[in-house]
Amino acid sequence: MTASKPRALLALNWKMNKTPSEAGAWAKSLQEEMPPTDVELAILAPAVALPLVAAELYGSGAAFGAQDVSAHASGAYTGEISAAMLADVGATYVIVGHSERREYHGETDEVVAAKARAALTAGLRPIVCVGERLPEREAGRHVTYTLDQLRASLTGVSFTDPTTLVIAYEPVWAIGTGRTATSADAEEMAAAIRGVLAELYPDAAGSVRVLYGGSVKPDNVREIMDGPNVNGALVGGASLQLGSVLGMLAALA
Ligand code: PEP
Repeated sequence: MTASKPRALLALNWKMNKTPSEAGAWAKSLQEEMPPTDVELAILAPAVALPLVAAELYGSGAAFGAQDVSAHASGAYTGEISAAMLADVGATYVIVGHSERREYHGETDEVVAAKARAALTAGLRPIVCVGERLPEREAGRHVTYTLDQLRASLTGVSFTDPTTLVIAYEPVWAIGTGRTATSADAEEMAAAIRGVLAELYPDAAGSVRVLYGGSVKPDNVREIMDGPNVNGALVGGASLQLGSVLGMLAALA
């Protein structure tokens, strides 16, 4: 199922951090210091910072994108940002269904699937987040819970190029806590996720990238991405400092 491992993706989720000026300065420094790498780097910045990030990153080879997108194409949805708007500023990726949006904004699997469909329709690559909370993990129901969430979050989602879909397995108990899943935990779930992808997209499952997210940093990124089904990482806290991002790229070199 994993005949040729897809190109690894290191996706940086800045969350609600960095003003546009700070984001632009960070992107400029990255542009100056970006080492040659086989890893694809994607900066998921606050939407208002994207034009500056785009300008400063130009020529670096790094991609960028947003942390959320509207499920609707356009119209009377005050405050929302459409996938077409993100595509227009040059975004490549967008996170959908991050656990913070599921928890604080009541996003259901149905909404997450609609957002993933909207992103793909506009030519963006959705990073669809799934993962169990501590009670499911402690009850040994983490795999069933996460796979149910995955199936529901992919309702009606289709694509022609499998590299346009990315799944991020993010156990909620490991996000921002410093508590990281082991590489065996990450591989167990990534393999199970790939099994569901094989049911849904029989010809494409091996090319969809499956990321792990949850307290990834320079010290553990290499080990966590060791498993054959883990194709990258979604990084929150450790993505804010350029030195730590360069450290992760060096660890993966
Ligand atoms: C995240 O929010 O997607 C995340 C993985 O955060 P952290 O790396 O800080 O755990």
